[in-house]
Amino acid sequence: MPSRECVVVSVARLKEVSIDVSRMIAHVGAGTRISEIANASLKAGLYFPLLPQSFELASAAGIVSTLGSGLLQPGTGNVEDVVQYIDIVTSGTELIRLGTDVTPRGCIGPCLHYLILGAEGSAGVIVGVGFRLRMKPRGEARVACRLPNLSKAIEIARELSQWNSPHMLRILDEDESTITLSTEGPLLLAMYLTSTTYFSSVLKEAVSKACIEYGGEVLEDKIIDRFVRERYRFRERLEELYRAGLWADTIDLAAPWSLMEKTWTILKERLSSIEGVIAVLGHASHFYPSGGSLYLIVVGEASLKVFGKVWKEAMKTALELGVAVTHHHGVGRGKLLWAEKQMSRGGFKTLCSLLDAMDPYRVFRGSPLRRECLRVLEG
Ligand SMILES: Cc1cc2nc3c(=O)[nH]c(=O)nc-3n(C[C@H](O)[C@H](O)[C@H](O)COP(=O)(O)OP(=O)(O)OC[C@H]3O[C@@H](n4cnc5c(N)ncnc54)[C@H](O)[C@@H]3O)c2cc1C
Repeated sequence: MPSRECVVVSVARLKEVSIDVSRMIAHVGAGTRISEIANASLKAGLYFPLLPQSFELASAAGIVSTLGSGLLQPGTGNVEDVVQYIDIVTSGTELIRLGTDVTPRGCIGPCLHYLILGAEGSAGVIVGVGFRLRMKPRGEARVACRLPNLSKAIEIARELSQWNSPHMLRILDEDESTITLSTEGPLLLAMYLTSTTYFSSVLKEAVSKACIEYGGEVLEDKIIDRFVRERYRFRERLEELYRAGLWADTIDLAAPWSLMEKTWTILKERLSSIEGVIAVLGHASHFYPSGGSLYLIVVGEASLKVFGKVWKEAMKTALELGVAVTHHHGVGRGKLLWAEKQMSRGGFKTLCSLLDAMDPYRVFRGSPLRRECLRVLEG
């Protein structure tokens, strides 16, 4: 939402996509949609591994600027793992390339393009991005497992995330399993993309065995197809809610394994008890060896007052429990003051000074982050 101090720039026409098959890089204009990058890569015989639910909506610059992530994160990483370089124009420079396509690693020395990941328009205008591509997978393994309770689901996800992480891994709590998939939960959904069908059968067998060892029941693979289909039907679902005078918002936290169940349970309890909230569905979807992202979908009366209370309660609870206030939806205006509390003061000031050095004329001071930075830098 632009304020009077904002610069509004449309990058919608920066849509060129060029696939360098030999370096396995997609060079794209800032306004290219993720779906367009994925389709162009497939046409060139390669695979783009970043698949957010906003596949058809998000632009290359948008996903980079909000520190995005996608369905295959446990196996192929977040946006920081697929961005090779960023082309940007700031008030202190002409067009510059941060990062490089010379080395598969993306940087020689400090990885300057990392400064722009999650910067939310606070440093300059991104005009192009280089993304890493992969060869197309040749095999796939899917396992859907119903666990006796959330704690068992978290335990098995933790185990799988150590050495043989699936490319897609999700835990859906009881409410989300029932409402979105009409299947009793909690559910653990795992999918591997592989280079040979031999790996697929070994991995499927191993995860199915683990499911039973953790007291679970292996369900039909078809549930995973249904899950993927439903994932991209959000427009219809949202319209149904709006017609009923309701609204939905999503809260993306991140917690170590040791706090995941506690955070999940306490937050669901607290948010459900807010007047005007009708349902709180939860899943965990982005995993690391040490923890993961917890994602709550809150459905309630379409009232700013209700959602103001929901966000305040969620952020207060995250700070109280010591879990991160955001994972892949960015910080924006709403979470900035909370997120700042979770960064070290010195770290935040350093970030502000670096952004100031990139944009010395402060053209991008209208972004929430820069406004807060100016307050901090000017004391
Ligand atoms: C239904 C739904 C599902 C979603 N699912 C996911 C998901 O699975 N994973 C995920 O990570 N995110 C998800 N998101 C979030 C969404 O992907 C991000 O908000 C997305 O990056 C927005 O892209 P956009 O092109 O619309 O950017 P905008 O909303 O236009 O901008 C987002 C931010 O990027 C900055 N920005 C945009 N373009 C530029 C530029 N050229 N230069 C500098 N700064 C720029 C803007 O200033 C702003 O701060 C979802 C959102 C929705 C609505």
